Amino acid sequence: MEKLVLHLDNIQKNFGGLSALKDVNLQVEEGTTHAIIGPNGAGKSTLLNVCVGRLKPDMGKVTFDGHELTGRKPHEIAQIGVARVFQTPEIFPELSLLENVMIPAFSKRDGAFRLNGYQQLSAQGELRAEAEHILEDVGLQELMHHIAGSLSRGDKRRLELAMCLILRPRLLLLDEPTAGMSRHDTNRTIDLLKQIKSRGMTKIIIEHDMHVVFSLADRVSVLARGQIIAGGTPEEVREDPKVKEAYLGG
Ligand code: ADP
Ligand code: MG
Repeated sequence: MEKLVLHLDNIQKNFGGLSALKDVNLQVEEGTTHAIIGPNGAGKSTLLNVCVGRLKPDMGKVTFDGHELTGRKPHEIAQIGVARVFQTPEIFPELSLLENVMIPAFSKRDGAFRLNGYQQLSAQGELRAEAEHILEDVGLQELMHHIAGSLSRGDKRRLELAMCLILRPRLLLLDEPTAGMSRHDTNRTIDLLKQIKSRGMTKIIIEHDMHVVFSLADRVSVLARGQIIAGGTPEEVREDPKVKEAYLGG
């Protein structure tokens, strides 16, 4: 039995009178890819935002590798090794791709320890080399000096992924990473996420596209109206009548 690294215990989140999450429990094994699927409005993005400290749950707690994440600020959660890609890419449109990838690492370093001027210069050289390497990994090396705002939608998502990878996260959360991508770009992203998998990172992926879920996920949880209604391997979940009903019933 592998180690369970992420625990969500009895998570509840209300928006006014709406219960977006009702008593959600979830455990994720270290090094696996766990997909969360479900109809629109099911609470998937809310769940991800609770995990990364963007939303505070009304009840329940989230723990990652023994650290309680609930109630911590997003930057503290980032320092514990948790990174996320939101549904709408958050990049710096006026800056180059290379600068975009270097920025998250700087803020992490500043938070973690202070560098003196000389160390900072040499660290910058190393950081730049690493940023270039990561841009190559995500297939954007040729556009390194372009302005991020000029990228296509698919490339912006890849850039955001690169901005996460420079932090060397141990847990990566992705909210619909292939949304709006062509089939070709989707397949490139699947290949990229598979490569990351081989590095032993734990991943949570919110996904609509069943082709992506089948290509990547070890386990799947199905969320409908704020509750987990089914879970298992992708094959098990696909055959579950409750899941078919949730999608058809809207
Ligand atoms: P999903 O990502 O599965 O499509 P969301 O988590 O975005 O679903 O939304 C779940 C429910 O919570 C929806 O009914 C949505 O309208 C509502 N909701 C999400 N965020 C907010 C918010 N900030 N304020 C009020 N209602 C919200
Ligand atoms: Mg969503």
